[in-house]
Amino acid sequence: MKRRLIYTFTFITVLLIETLSGIVFAAGFQQHMVQKGETLSEIAQKYKVPLKSLIQANSIKSAHRIQTGKTLRIPREAFALKKTVYEVKRGDTLIAIAKRYNVDWKELQRLNRISSPRSLQIGTEILIHSDGGLGFSNPLRVPLVLTSKYGYRPHPVTGRYQLHEGIDLRAAVGTRVYASKGGRVIFAGRKGGYGKLVGIEHEDNFTTWYGHLSRIRVKVGQIVSRGKVIGLSGNTGVSTGPHLHFEIRYKGRSEKPTKYITIP
Ligand SMILES: [Zn+2]
Repeated sequence: MKRRLIYTFTFITVLLIETLSGIVFAAGFQQHMVQKGETLSEIAQKYKVPLKSLIQANSIKSAHRIQTGKTLRIPREAFALKKTVYEVKRGDTLIAIAKRYNVDWKELQRLNRISSPRSLQIGTEILIHSDGGLGFSNPLRVPLVLTSKYGYRPHPVTGRYQLHEGIDLRAAVGTRVYASKGGRVIFAGRKGGYGKLVGIEHEDNFTTWYGHLSRIRVKVGQIVSRGKVIGLSGNTGVSTGPHLHFEIRYKGRSEKPTKYITIP
């Protein structure tokens, strides 16, 4: 009888731990307590995440000194970098390669230190960070038309001079909206003038926001990878016509999205 009780107890404990770790996982991170003598690269290897992601996820300043007993956040796969090497073929352009991998060509150029993107050498190997990589990608896959820039402007509805904290991209109601980068959904619902809004938290204190949607297709807590459809564009909230309002924020403050993505 006693033994059975112990078994039951163990079983419940295991279940509980499983459930708890599940919750931690759903929040976007797994945790790891640093053991004596363990190095960062060993931990990175153990969880199969790039060392860089591990350092970034924990804001580690010195990778050489790491405290025993410290709890580390282990980034999930959605945050991890997936590297692909592409060999330039005849007729390739950087823009075409970028399009194929759904990354921004400026990001490719920066990453590979390409001085003249117009004259790519055949046989050159190009490193591509796809899906949850370093950069942001366009949230729409229709020809992009910028209808309102980031910056101070008289508000089109209220007339008040104020900061437009994102960019407006023309989009018919029902146009698919894609996660600009991999991350965790932190908001999915209505919010004042934004109408139906989705917010995604990314690595390194960045968030992206997608406003005036007609449909939301994700839930709070969901891990999304770059290019995942998160909703359909629309005209909800305070808006003068169907468009997508797109914001990139760093530590909560809005940034100029065109610093990160290219609008042709
Ligand atoms: Zn806007």
